[in-house]
Amino acid sequence: MTKLLEVSALTVGYGEAVALDAISFDVARGEFITFIGPNGAGKTTLLNSLMGVLRQKSGTVSFKGEDLGTLKPETRVARGIVIVPERRELFPQLSVEDHLRLGAFLRRREGRAILDAGLERIYALLPKLKERRRQLAGTLSGGEQQMVAVGRALMAEPQLLMLDEPSTGLAPRITEEIFEAIARLKADGMTAIIVEQNAHLAFSVADRGFVLEVGNVVASGAADELRQDPRVLAAYLGAGDRYRDA
Ligand code: ATP
Repeated sequence: MTKLLEVSALTVGYGEAVALDAISFDVARGEFITFIGPNGAGKTTLLNSLMGVLRQKSGTVSFKGEDLGTLKPETRVARGIVIVPERRELFPQLSVEDHLRLGAFLRRREGRAILDAGLERIYALLPKLKERRRQLAGTLSGGEQQMVAVGRALMAEPQLLMLDEPSTGLAPRITEEIFEAIARLKADGMTAIIVEQNAHLAFSVADRGFVLEVGNVVASGAADELRQDPRVLAAYLGAGDRYRDA
């Protein structure tokens, strides 16, 4: 069976510096995978490269059997690849609902009724957004902003959802709420790549994981096995781990 996403020897750099060194992996439909690793490991670079924001130096990325080559980000969105950026990138003066409708921009010809049904699905998944639907994004808490970013991405009806450190800067309670919503998406059959510094959270929703360090995959496997790996335990899951968020 063709995988939804197949990445082969992907190498990405900034000038002469190599940020990702010949990374290979694949993602099946309905699978959640995670990349964990410290600051600067190359996690954001990976997602930006899959999104087409960064161009690869070498290697191939194919999605539904199609080589994405140099396709632009908006074309990749139309193909079904959507990112929730770490910095959320909201418009402070636009309301929650404006953001959600913007997320469906490429689906605008599908008609109001279909898009309204999509909105209701997002509100069912993230009820806080419904309460805040008229509120301006600039006045929302960090957790609410993250929910808007997730909701906006979902309005594009992604086939592959990419989440860049969804827990960054958020209090544990709100992070938990967001990961509960992510778990519900998984139960509904979504396919996702989640990049996280918080390995506990990442492994709570992922089927498989990859440990990225300075542009290389240094360990990988089923999430349940990886969380028992002594190196992963020592560096990412122990009480005194180096990288775990508060
Ligand atoms: P973080 O958790 O801090 O977001 P990360 O794992 O996402 O880390 P990247 O942001 O992908 O890591 O960075 C990988 C490497 O590429 C780092 O060495 C970083 O300094 C470098 N890098 C990232 N962006 C740029 C850029 N725009 N120009 C030059 N180097 C960059």
